[in-house]
Order: sequence, then C-alpha cells, then structure tokens
Amino acid sequence: MTYDILHSKEKNCRTLNVFRILSIPVLTVIVFLIAFITAIIGADGYESTIVFIIFIGTIVIIVSYAIINSIYKRKKRKLYDAIEQSILQAAGVSEWQFLTDCDYTIRLNSRQAVDHYDDLKFFKEDETRLSDAISLMKLKQEYKKSFQKFLKNNEYTTLKTYPLFVNKIENNLLNTDCYYVFAIYISPSGRSQNSAKLSITKKRLREFEEDKSLLMSKGEYNKYIKAQESEKLSKKQQDYYGRVNDVIDLANENKDSLVNKSDADELDKLVSLLFDRTVNSIKKIKTCDSEEWEIIEKYISDIDERVRKITDKNTRILEYYASDEFAKIKLTCDTLMNTQREFNEYIDEKVKSISELFGTNVIRNETTNEDEFNYIHTYKKSITPFTAEVSSTVFASAENNPLDYVVKHFYPNKGRYPEQIRKLQLLVEELETLKEAKTIIENYKKDIQQYLSDVPSFIMENDEDGFYARLGFATINENTLTVEYKFAYTSNSGRAQRYFTVPMTEETIISLIEMLESKLTMSAFTKEQRSLMTSKLRLQIKERDNYTCKHCGNSIHKEPNLLLEIDHIIPVSKGGCTREDNLQTLCWKCNRNKSNKLQQNEILSGIDDKDD
Ligand SMILES: [Zn+2]
Repeated sequence: MTYDILHSKEKNCRTLNVFRILSIPVLTVIVFLIAFITAIIGADGYESTIVFIIFIGTIVIIVSYAIINSIYKRKKRKLYDAIEQSILQAAGVSEWQFLTDCDYTIRLNSRQAVDHYDDLKFFKEDETRLSDAISLMKLKQEYKKSFQKFLKNNEYTTLKTYPLFVNKIENNLLNTDCYYVFAIYISPSGRSQNSAKLSITKKRLREFEEDKSLLMSKGEYNKYIKAQESEKLSKKQQDYYGRVNDVIDLANENKDSLVNKSDADELDKLVSLLFDRTVNSIKKIKTCDSEEWEIIEKYISDIDERVRKITDKNTRILEYYASDEFAKIKLTCDTLMNTQREFNEYIDEKVKSISELFGTNVIRNETTNEDEFNYIHTYKKSITPFTAEVSSTVFASAENNPLDYVVKHFYPNKGRYPEQIRKLQLLVEELETLKEAKTIIENYKKDIQQYLSDVPSFIMENDEDGFYARLGFATINENTLTVEYKFAYTSNSGRAQRYFTVPMTEETIISLIEMLESKLTMSAFTKEQRSLMTSKLRLQIKERDNYTCKHCGNSIHKEPNLLLEIDHIIPVSKGGCTREDNLQTLCWKCNRNKSNKLQQNEILSGIDDKDD
C-alpha cells in the first residue's frame, strides 16, 4: 500500500476516533435535551415518559458506542497491520521473527545442568548449531543495517503512528547483537523449574568459527587440521591437473586441423613432456607450500605458451589459404599447371603407395596418456609409423646391430619374406624414380616463381610443402624419400625417452634385402634371387637408350622435364629378370599406360581362370 493511501486511511481513522469519543457526551446531551423538553411541555404523565426516554436513550447510547468502538478498533488494527507491512517492505526486511530475544530453546535434565550451562557446551553438543547461529547472526546484522538505513530517511515520519513503529524497531534492534539461547529445566512434576539465558556475542561466535580447537578435543583437532590440509592439497592438485588439462584440450582441439605434420609431432612432444614432468610430480608433492609448485607452474606456462605458438601459427596459415590473395594466385597457377596436372597426380599416387611397400607398420592412429587417477584428459597422440617400443636391453643391442633388429621387429614372419623382398626391390626402383621426379617438380616450381612474389614469407617458411600441394604440386619431401624405422625406449617413470632411427637409404634397403634373402632356405632363396635395379644400372639403361622413350619416342632432348622410368619388358610377375636385355627406357606416360594394361589383363585373366 502506498504512503498516500496509508496517510488518508490514518486520517479517516482519527476522524472515526473523534466521532467515537464524542458519541457518548453528544448522545447523552441529546437524551437529556429530549427529557428536558418533555418536562417543559408538561403533558399528562410526563414523569413516566421521561423515565422511558432515559431508559431507551441509555440503551441507544451504549449500543451506538459499542458499534462505533468495534468499527474503530477493527479499522485501527487493519491500519496498523498495513503500515507495519509497508514499513517492513520499505526497509527490505521480510520478517520480525529473527529479531527476537530467544533464538534457541534447549531443555536440560537437571537444575544444576542449567546453572553450569555455557556456550561451549551448547555448540559442542551439536556441530550444526554453530553454523546455524552464524547464519542467523548474519541475517540479524543485515536486518539491523536495513532498519538503520530506513530510520535515517523514510516518508513515513509524518504518520501520526510512526513513533510507535520506531519504538518497535528499536526494541527489536536491541536483539541483533547477540545470539540468544534459553536453557530451561522443568521437573517431571512441573513444580521445580530453572532457566538461564545465554547471550552469545558476535565476537564470541567469530572466535568459535576461527579457532576450531575450542570445540574439539586435542585428538579431534589434530585430525581436523590434517583433513583440512589434505583437502587444501587435493584442491591445489586438482587446480594443477586442470591447468594441464587446459593445455591438452587446446592441443586436442587443434590437432586435426594442423597443416603441418612436423607441428603435429611437436605438439605430441610438448604434451608428452607436459605429462611426464607434471602429472607424476603433482601427485607426489606432499604440502601446499612446497617450492615444487612454482617449478611446475612455470613448466606448465612454458608448455602452454609453446602450444599456443603452434596453434596461432596454424591459424595464421589457414587464414592465408582462405584469403582472396591466395585464391588469386591459385587461379593464375591453375592455368599454368594445366599441362602438369596429370604428372603431379601420377607422382602423388606413387608417393602414397611407397609406405605400403615397407614391412610391418606398427602405426596406431592415436593413443592416450594413461593416468591411473583419471585426472588428466585423454590426448590424441599420434604414433610415428614403423616405431618399435622396446626395453632398455633390447634398445642397447639394437643400437649395435640395427638391421638385425629391424628384421626382428618389422619383418617377423618368414613366410612373407619372398613377397617382402619383392616389395623392397620395387621400393629401390621407386625411390630412385621419385628422386628424379622431385627435381622435375622443383623445375616446375621455378616456372611459377614470378607469380609468387606476394606470398608472405611467413607461409613459405612454415608451410612451403603445404602451399605447393594446394596449388596442385605433388609433395616429395625427405619423409617420403627416406622412410625410417624407429626404436624407442621409455623408462618406467616415463621421464626418460630415448630413440634412434634407421633411415632406409638405397644402400640400407639393399643390405636389408640381402639379409632377408640369407635367412631363406636355399630353394626359396634361388626362387627369389633377382639382381637389383640399382641407380647405376638405371643410368646405364637410360644412356643406352639415349634418354628416349622406346615406345613413343619422346626424350629429354625434346622435353627437358620428362620423367623417364626403367621398365621390365617381360614383367617380373611373368618371370622377367632384371637384366639389360629385359630392360627398356619408357617415359612416365607410356609406363603408366603399360602398367594399367597389365593390371587390366591380370583382372581379365583372373576372370578367364574362373570361367575355366
Ligand atoms: Zn613414351
């Protein structure tokens, strides 16, 4: 109800009060006046009429007053309630009830218990009482502040009844400084009684809150302190695990969109370092104020920064590829590349088939950083292909005899040797072809340099291969040309990780082929024996054929960037040998056509065989 309505209601009420107070004398005067007039007129028997008038008049006066009084009282009560509600609302206080002088009543078992009762006993009996008392105290303080603010400035001051409410508020505020406990004893018969009132001050409550030892025995207190410390420590650990997880999440989010494989490797390395150096340490730290926290903190920040550097760089590169600038360059190069597209696609296919020619590839797409407590998020780590995880003893031996161990770990099945030897022989040939193709592609790249002057150096420094691949060039980098077998050893603690690689150069592949052949039985060995097409032999054949395709007559004299390949006239699969008289020079197009035809024939003859 608004103040204005209250004000006018109060006015009405006061008018009613005046009416009520005046009702008895006014009515009495009227009755006597009527009686007096009756006496003056002096009609017959007026005495009895006067008695009658006074009798009736008195009844009317009493009844009228009773009615007016009850209306007044009801109105006053209603008004009072309305004002109180309005004041509470204006002061922002929902109820009075928290401001009483008895907040808790407790019944005790004896008269003496009441005499010896104190706040310490009260709170010790039930540990929830302290927190209840503290929250009630907070509420009391809030109400106190609200009322004080209200009393300082409000629009109710002009109400006649305002002082009544001020009085009530001030009385209630007296109860806000303490928490009151009533301890009472009533004997079963009800005859003997005793009571005590505990006034527990704000200050006293704070003492209990801050010094837990007050309410505990020494043993309890020590246990409490320990629990507090371990909770604090566990919270700190969780915080740090959280920070590690943030870095892992960031790495996971960006991993799949990285344009650069080396960045993915770097990310793996960083996360693995992060895991090794932090997770175990966090687990082991025994106190919250250990100096190790700072070291770990620094370590996490450092790794975080390095991960961000990679992801930021990646974002920048991707932004460039999405730009109009790059679209323009791509459009220009598309026209220029038209004649080279087929060649690049042919080489890309070759690159893809290369890794399939190697031995057992232990690649797993992803693995996790196992964490027995499951605090740490899973990281999508990629494992390098052709990696053998070995023990420290094996690692040491493998370092001394790398090829023996390559055979042991990556060529475990003797039955597959003949097939694998054939693949490795093919590999020697293909690697050589790819080396030549690489030179040709580099020449093609030179042809378009004049259109690339606007490409930011940032892109060329960080994603040269990716840039050219997007323009349609086949990518032949060192990773493709030299596949590596890798031996890795990780110590039990996960801290030390050592590895070495065995790069598969032409020389090593030939040694590997010889080693596999030497392990085959004599008969199998002769079957598989086949002289190798070394780079020396290839060069010899090309020179013999004058660098000219035996099929179409195209040559590097006519087309300097022509890729020439050495072809088995009778294919190896049909018993053809690697001998000069079975070898010829073919340009890549003719070689491609021939192998496509061979494949078709094989499929057709396969169908014929079935028909037979
Ligand atoms: Zn040709």
